[in-house]
Amino acid sequence: MAASPNSESSTAPRYRRRREQLVEALRARGIHDERVLAAIGRVHRHAFVDPALRDRAYEDEALPIGLNQTISQPFTVAYQTSLLEVQAHDRILEVGTGSGYQAAVLCEMGARVFSVERHEALLARARRVLGTLGHDVRTRLGDGREGWPAFAPYDGIVVTAGAPDIPAPLLRQLREPAAEGKAGGTLVIPVGGSGGQTMTRITRTGTGPHDYEREEFHSFRFVPLVSEEGDDSSTTPD
Ligand code: SAH
Repeated sequence: MAASPNSESSTAPRYRRRREQLVEALRARGIHDERVLAAIGRVHRHAFVDPALRDRAYEDEALPIGLNQTISQPFTVAYQTSLLEVQAHDRILEVGTGSGYQAAVLCEMGARVFSVERHEALLARARRVLGTLGHDVRTRLGDGREGWPAFAPYDGIVVTAGAPDIPAPLLRQLREPAAEGKAGGTLVIPVGGSGGQTMTRITRTGTGPHDYEREEFHSFRFVPLVSEEGDDSSTTPD
């Protein structure tokens, strides 16, 4: 079959060059984890955005994915993924599947990825794209503030929406340290209200309810992490 001018085969080299340029831009912005950069260099971000926005898929910017949600900026994905310090075969839970892009990057790093999304339409599309590209991600429709107990504990949990506070179930679903002096699972979560959030990393240090260490990093601006009853549109019912 002859390839049309817009077919994947004719656009692939162009996207590959743009991915390489994106990786260099992220490096220049301070992302130094080579495994994260390599994963971003491999994942087809253009497949996770609306066809009308594909030309902008390798700009370092967030893009709309419908329902008031966005695919995170590549810098943000790289930053959060670096903080997770993912090792091959780690079990990673993502809260906020959105487009599926962050989940795909985690997969490319060799993690076993679980992802929860509250918007059915977004989840359906993310599943389709992940399946087409061959990224093996287990997904679930639901309130990610509850985590996903069936597959816990996790080596890492990444929340990709701004959280007013840290949901307790996520802390409980972090892996306990394997031995004294070793670190347990880590939660990477942007904490704060709609004005902006502080990227926060919580590491489990023991088995007790207070055995967690907290570190704070740069400020970001995410769409909100909402409750199942919550409404993330602009209208508020009485
Ligand atoms: N990780 C995504 C970015 C998603 S934006 C990507 O790579 O494209 C944040 C996502 O979190 C949105 O899709 C939003 O619907 C979802 N979300 C918000 N609150 C949630 C909740 N309580 N549980 C699950 N998903 C939630």
